[in-house]
This record gives sequence, structure tokens and C-alpha cells, in this order.
Amino acid sequence: MYHAKSAGKNRTQIYTPLLGTKSAAEIRRDLMNAMENGELYLEYQPKICTRRRKVISVEALARWDHPEIGLYLPKFWVPVLMGSHTMNRLGEWVVAQAMRDLEILRSNGHDLWMSVNIGSDHFVAPDFIETVEAIQKEQGFDRSLLEIEVTEDALFTSEQRAIAAFNGLHDLGYRISIDDFGSGYSNITRLASLPVDFLKIDQSIISAANQNARARTILASTITMATDLGCFTVAEGIETDRQAEFATLMGANCLQGFYFTPSLPMDELSIWLNEQNGPQGHSYLRADTEP
Ligand code: C2E
Ligand code: MG
Ligand code: MG
Ligand code: MG
Repeated sequence: MYHAKSAGKNRTQIYTPLLGTKSAAEIRRDLMNAMENGELYLEYQPKICTRRRKVISVEALARWDHPEIGLYLPKFWVPVLMGSHTMNRLGEWVVAQAMRDLEILRSNGHDLWMSVNIGSDHFVAPDFIETVEAIQKEQGFDRSLLEIEVTEDALFTSEQRAIAAFNGLHDLGYRISIDDFGSGYSNITRLASLPVDFLKIDQSIISAANQNARARTILASTITMATDLGCFTVAEGIETDRQAEFATLMGANCLQGFYFTPSLPMDELSIWLNEQNGPQGHSYLRADTEP
């Protein structure tokens, strides 16, 4: 099961997990143990390049196979970790694990890079770049194969430290993206002064654009402005062919969403990539809808 919707009538079992009965400190401690016990694992959701019609990268998404409740999705426990040491440990675990998996995918002939989500407090932590560099040195991957996704909160928490982190990572050769753009108090003018490689436009903007013309205008001008500022755009949460089509026509560089596939564990991802990323590329758009 990939999302709560598919739980149907049992949904409450998933929506009220532990949070009512355990303190934040207990959940954090449980998660630390989960990382050690192998209860935590990663799934990967592909991003499709609209021009090449190919999967160009995958996003690592944490999954917790919880002994009491089964699949425990991050939206329930990531907020509990905000600002804690556990969030930093999670980030390091994810980078190391995701880059090991990327190595396997690449050695199987999949020319991809990897993105990981990093909590905004972790991103601005003084030792963040150091810990990423330590993992890079240990594993020896090419830095351009790692993309760090961070939300704009990082800029609100500590603008100076965030700017330093953006510049430091960029200068070392990592890629950086702003996640969930448009879901909060977004400020596109900030992009002008930051070395952002990708702007990930939040699902809420995509689904609003599906409903009304004014939201479509906002989406189109966001894509245009980001592009003019030298930033690639990713449309998140694409669920229908119509959404894929309008986002492509508006100039989004990448698409990601359930329309293509939800996140997949490694074994299923390899199969999916072999099927979908053949010589013809992904067949999501017919030739006549190409811009
Ligand atoms: P995100 O980084 O914006 O990831 C996208 C989320 O939207 C994922 O949920 C993904 O499964 C879901 N999604 C993708 N396509 C669609 C779609 O077409 N429709 C709908 N309705 N949903 C879609 P997930 O995996 O539950 O993650 C939720 C959030 O939890 C992530 O949002 C991210 O902020 C956070 N998260 C996940 N893994 C990690 C992690 O390893 N570290 C940190 N710090 N945060 C994580
Ligand atoms: Mg993300
Ligand atoms: Mg996102
Ligand atoms: Mg999101």
C-alpha cells in the first residue's frame, strides 16, 4: 500500500498511529532503533524529463516498516522529528543508503542521479556539508549525482546559514532543489540570489491548475520565471495525463507523480525502469502533444 487512501475503511488505523499514545521523544527513539534494526528502508520515485521522455533521476523516500502498524508513512513521523538530532541522523542514513542503491542502479545500466530530502534545520546545521562530504569520501560517488531537496523553511529558519549552505554545496558540485514550492509563503525572487538547480512545484499548485484558469496562469508564470532565472522545474504530484500534458506544454522540465508510478522499492524499480525507460523513452505523451 502506497498511500492512506488505499487503506479504505481501515484508514483510521493509519491516521492515528502511535502519535496519541507515544511522546515525540519516544517516537524519535523508536526511529533511531528502526534505522539500526532495518525497519527503515527507501523507496524511489522517478522523475521524467519532458524533452527526452526518460527517467533522469529518482527521489529517495523513507519508509518505516513498523512492527505494530506496518507501513508507516513519513508524513506522520517526519514532522515529529523537526529540529531534532534524529532528523539529522535520518538525513545521513538516507544519503548513505540512497547513494549505495544508486550505485547498483547505475551498474545495471541506468543513467540516473539521486535526490534526497533533507530537513531544513539539518540543512542549515553548521556540520551539514561536512557530514555529506564524509559520506561522499567514503563511497566515492560523483557529487553531481546527489541532489539535495530542501523546502523554503530553511530560508526562514536562518537565511544567512541557508545561503551559505546553498553556495557551499553548489560550489562542491552537488545539485540542490527547492521542494514543495508554492505550498507556503513562497518567494520566487529569492531564486535570483541562490544557486538552485531545480524548483519542485508543489502538488497543490498542479491540482489547482487542473481546476481553474487563474491557477493555470500562476503555474505557467512560475515555470516561465524559474526558467528565465536559469532554474529547471519539476512538476510534482502529476496524477493524470491531462496534468502531464499541461505541465509539459507550459515548459516544465520534469514530471513526477502517481500517473507514472508511486515510489517503488529497489527490486520493483529496476523492473519498472527496464520496462519504461526503453530506447523509445517513456510513452506518456504522443508526438502531437509535444511542444
Ligand atoms: P516530498 O518530498 O514532497 O515527497 C513527495 C510526496 O508526495 C511523497 O510522499 C510521494 O509519495 C507523494 N506523491 C508523489 N506523487 C504523488 C501524486 O501523484 N499524488 C499524491 N497524492 N502524492 C504523491 P511521502 O513519501 O509520504 O513523503 C511525504 C513527505 O515526507 C515528503 O514530501 C518529504 O517532505 C518527507 N520525507 C519523505 N522521505 C523523507 C526523508 O527521507 N527525509 C526527510 N527529511 N523527509 C522525508
Ligand atoms: Mg521531496
Ligand atoms: Mg515535494
Ligand atoms: Mg510535496
